[in-house]
Amino acid sequence: MTITDCSQSSGQPDDMRCEVAIVGSGCGGATVARVLAEAGRDVLLIEEGGDFVGPQRLTQRDLSMYDQLYADRGARTTADRTISVLSGRVLGGGGVINACDVVPVHEAIWRYWHTIHGLQQWSPQAMAPFVARALQDLSATAITQDQVNRNNQILRQGAQAMGYTGELMHHNRQGCVGLGTCLIGCPLGAKRNPRMVAIPKAITAGARVLVRAKVVQISAADRPDKTLLVRALDPKGYHETSTFRVQAKRIVLAAGPVGTTTILAASGLGNDRLGRGLSLQPQVAVVAQMPDIVNAFDGIPQSFALTQFERNDEKTGLGGYRIESIFGTPGILGSLVVQPGIEGKAAMAALPYVAACLVLVPDEPVGQIGQTWSGRPRIDYTLSEEWKTRARAAVKTAMRCFLAAGARQVMVASAPPLVVHSEKELAQVDGLSFAPASIGLISAHQQGGTPISARPDAGVCDPDGQLWGTPGVYVCDGGLFPTSSSTHTMAPILTLGHFLGAKWAATWGKT
Ligand SMILES: Cc1cc2nc3c(=O)[nH]c(=O)nc-3n(C[C@H](O)[C@H](O)[C@H](O)COP(=O)(O)OP(=O)(O)OC[C@H]3O[C@@H](n4cnc5c(N)ncnc54)[C@H](O)[C@@H]3O)c2cc1C
Ligand code: SF4
Repeated sequence: MTITDCSQSSGQPDDMRCEVAIVGSGCGGATVARVLAEAGRDVLLIEEGGDFVGPQRLTQRDLSMYDQLYADRGARTTADRTISVLSGRVLGGGGVINACDVVPVHEAIWRYWHTIHGLQQWSPQAMAPFVARALQDLSATAITQDQVNRNNQILRQGAQAMGYTGELMHHNRQGCVGLGTCLIGCPLGAKRNPRMVAIPKAITAGARVLVRAKVVQISAADRPDKTLLVRALDPKGYHETSTFRVQAKRIVLAAGPVGTTTILAASGLGNDRLGRGLSLQPQVAVVAQMPDIVNAFDGIPQSFALTQFERNDEKTGLGGYRIESIFGTPGILGSLVVQPGIEGKAAMAALPYVAACLVLVPDEPVGQIGQTWSGRPRIDYTLSEEWKTRARAAVKTAMRCFLAAGARQVMVASAPPLVVHSEKELAQVDGLSFAPASIGLISAHQQGGTPISARPDAGVCDPDGQLWGTPGVYVCDGGLFPTSSSTHTMAPILTLGHFLGAKWAATWGKT
C-alpha cells in the first residue's frame, strides 16, 4: 500500500504534481479519491493526521488516542465554550473514531433541499443510487439482538414501558467483538470506514496518499495549474518540519467544515457566505444512576434509538428529536462529571452503575466559522429558543425512560447539575437555561460553512460542488449541506462523495 508518511525523513516529499489534489481523507475526501482514481484520474490524497491501524497504533488509551485521532486533541469548542466540537484528524477522518451508526438522509430532507433550496438533482429518486453505493461501502447491516448491551437495553426497556417506538440501528461493523472503544478507534479493524474501504480501493486504483501533511493555503487559484502550500508535520503531528508545494489542475477540499473553511479563508477564496450556515446538531447527555451494575462501557456503545419523536419535515427541513443510548471510555465520561473533589471521585466510582444516552436535536444552520487573530478557527454558535424548547422536551423524554427502567436518579451535567428522582421533579427541566458555559453540549455532526446553493448569493459552492467564482476548486465534505441533514452524517457524506465523484469523473475534461 502506497502511503507516504511526511513525518519520516524518507517520506519528506519534494514539490509534486497531480491532476486532482484532495485535501482531507474522511468520508467525503476518501470517497471521491476512490471514485476519481477508479475512473483513471491521477489523484493525490493529502491528510494532516497520521495513519492508525491495528492494536499497536490504536491502543484504546484515552489520552493518547484523543491526542492523536481528534482535531485539537478533542478540545475544540465553540468560542463561548458551550459546545464541544468533535471531529477526526487521522487517515480516514471521522469514520475512524465514530460510533458506526448508519442512518441515511430521510427522503423528506432530500425533498426539502430539492424543492425549497432549488437543488434540482437532489430529489430522493435521483439520489437513491448514490445512497445505495454509500450503504454498500459501509456494509450496512442491522445490529442484532445479541449485540445490544445492557446500557442500550435499559433505554429500550424504558421506552417500551412508556409506550414509545424505537429501533435497533444499522451499523458498519464486521467482526466486532464489542470491545466498546469505538470512539477512540477499533484496534481490530472491525469498522468498515473510509480507512478500511475507500482508501485501499483508491490506492489499488493508483491514488497516492500523503499523511502528516497539512495544507495551509491555495495560491494561483485562477490559473490552470493551482498550487497548494503544504507543511510536513512531525511524527506526533504538532510541529511543522518543512514546506512543499503541490501543483494540481483541480483541488477538492474535504477537510471537514472547519478545516475547509479555514483553508479557503487563508487563501482569500470563497464569497461572503464563507463560514456561514454552520449546523452543529448539539447533543445533550442524560445520565442515569441504576440500582444494578450496567457496565455500559462493555459492548457496542450505540445500538438502540428512540425514534417516536423524530419529525422530518419537507417544508422546514427540521423538527423533532431522536434519543440514542451511548457510552464512552472513562476519560470521556470523566469529562462530563461536573462535581468537584470527593463528589466527583464518588461519581466516577459509580461508573459501573451508570446508563447514558444522548438526545440528538436537529438545529437551524445558525453558526459561523471564522478565524482568531492568529488564524486559528473560531466557531460562533448561539442556540435558538426553538432548539432549546425541543431539547428540553427531549431531555424530559429521556429522563422518563430511565425512570421507567428503574433509575434511582437521572442527571444532566449542567452547572449546577440537574438531578431528577421522579416524574414529579421533571418540571425542573423547564429551568434548563442552556446559558453559555452552563452545560456541556457535544457536536459530532458539523455541517455547513461552505454550503451548496442554486444561487451564488445563497451559498459558497454551486450545485456541482465548485466554489462560486473559482473554477477548478471544489468542496466535498459535510460543509456542503445547505442545512442540517437532521441525522448522523457519515452515510450522507459518503452519498455526496459518490454523487459528486461520479459527476466529476464524467464531466471533467481529461488532462
Ligand atoms: C465522536 C464522533 C462520533 C460520531 N458518530 C457517528 C456515527 O455513529 N454515525 C455517523 O453517521 N456519523 C458519526 N459521526 C460523524 C461523522 O463521522 C462525520 O460527520 C464524518 O466523518 C465527517 O466526514 P467529512 O468528510 O466531512 O470530514 P472528516 O471525516 O472530519 O475528514 C476531514 C479530514 O480532513 C483532515 N484535514 C483537516 N484539515 C486539513 C488540512 N489543512 N490539511 C490536510 N488535511 C486536513 C482531517 O484531519 C480529517 O481527517 C461522528 C463523529 C464524531 C466526531
Ligand atoms: S465495539 Fe466493535 S467496532 Fe467498536 S471498538 Fe469494539 S470491536 Fe471495534
